[in-house]
Amino acid sequence: MAEQTVSYRIGDRLYLNITDRCTLACRFCPKTLGSHRVHDFDLTLAQRPSQAEILVAVDDPRQFSEVVFCGFGEPTLRLQVLLDTARHIKHNGGRVRINTDGLANLVHKRNVLPEMADCIDSLSVSMNAQDEAVYRRHCAPALPGSYAAMLDFLAAAPAYIGDVTATAIDGLDGVDIARCEALADHLGVAFRRRELDVVG
Ligand code: SF4
Repeated sequence: MAEQTVSYRIGDRLYLNITDRCTLACRFCPKTLGSHRVHDFDLTLAQRPSQAEILVAVDDPRQFSEVVFCGFGEPTLRLQVLLDTARHIKHNGGRVRINTDGLANLVHKRNVLPEMADCIDSLSVSMNAQDEAVYRRHCAPALPGSYAAMLDFLAAAPAYIGDVTATAIDGLDGVDIARCEALADHLGVAFRRRELDVVG
């Protein structure tokens, strides 16, 4: 069996691929479209990497401007592994970002943000849409209440995490970037417009 890609480097960042599961099935996602490739990396996971494998894949986090939890899966679904890895990275002088769907509190049925406060420097949350109808069309959430839960997560996050950014992808049918940005502003978080097919 070929070795699986647990970490991959793009520019001066290291990305960690710790799960291939999500509760969304985004229509724009390469995974949903049948591909697990990002740049030259095949992120197919035959099995989810262990904590020990992830730490080996991080090596020395000071080599990177930040270590980002980001793969074709939602990293907060492996919350304890994520937090333990993040604490290891912080302890060894690195910076940590999570790229997330913002559904951790809904999935885990509690506010997990206090657990992130000591080990996560920044959150990039996929808002993806200015309203629930557009969100459901593009993200096909499995869990009822996902859009509202994501917005609640965004609103609560700045009390715990210093750098919180909502993102949306320009070019998707019906997505109004200006309204997404206004919503992020209303929630008290930064906003970043992403382009289709650009990872990071
Ligand atoms: S949450 Fe991320 S990995 Fe999951 S389907 Fe959507 S874009 Fe793909």
